[in-house]
Amino acid sequence: MQLKPDVEAIFKFVGYRKEHLYEGYRPAHLICEGYLTSGVHSYYNLGKNTDGELKGTITFISPEVYPACVWVGKKIMMYEGQRNVGHAVITNIYNPILCKDDKENPGAPDHIKKYCFKDEDDPLYISLHKNFAGKTSFVYKVKCTCHCERFIVYKDAHPSIFAKCCNCGNMITVYDLKYYPAAVKLNKDFTREIVDEKAVQIYVNYEYDDEFLYEDDVEFDADDITWGKVFIANDNEIKKILDDETA
Ligand SMILES: [Zn+2]
Repeated sequence: MQLKPDVEAIFKFVGYRKEHLYEGYRPAHLICEGYLTSGVHSYYNLGKNTDGELKGTITFISPEVYPACVWVGKKIMMYEGQRNVGHAVITNIYNPILCKDDKENPGAPDHIKKYCFKDEDDPLYISLHKNFAGKTSFVYKVKCTCHCERFIVYKDAHPSIFAKCCNCGNMITVYDLKYYPAAVKLNKDFTREIVDEKAVQIYVNYEYDDEFLYEDDVEFDADDITWGKVFIANDNEIKKILDDETA
């Protein structure tokens, strides 16, 4: 199966490997402390005179095994057996599972993180981003892990939002107060109702208190949202289906 790359990186090779690289080269990467994992390289500038420095992408074998351990600027050592062949410095992260949340790089709540993407090629995403994104407010497009972007959406009165992938049937929690520390939760069963009979695209906007930006001792907590909005779109028409203050 041909998978999408997980990260983009600048590679610096040393020794024999500096002059002997090929598309699909697959060294081991020290992705986090004590964990080596295999990853397939693809290079943008192979064959050019680069003095052992290349730019390209890495597709890891099992990213779900080592989540949230990569950030832009992270240096990852590469090996063949015991021998170090160089390192990679991460310049972009395509797979949100790998991405570590922090103040510089806040992510979405855990229940939806791996389905949240920033899609700069989608005019609807761009317009929502322009209207709602800010230093403490983040906008994402929802995509299933099977790459499908169409969902049947369900809502209940709590309020919660769930989305069922039209391709693989995966049920994604889009908004659910039980995951948010600041939320007032009601201990009661709610009935799910279908929002739209049609398959729609979904966009989300999660807002946070700004204390993580200004207080040194406050870490960013992706689950601690203060406000959520959910939008659905069909035929370029955006409709807001949730606008909820969690606390
Ligand atoms: Zn799916």
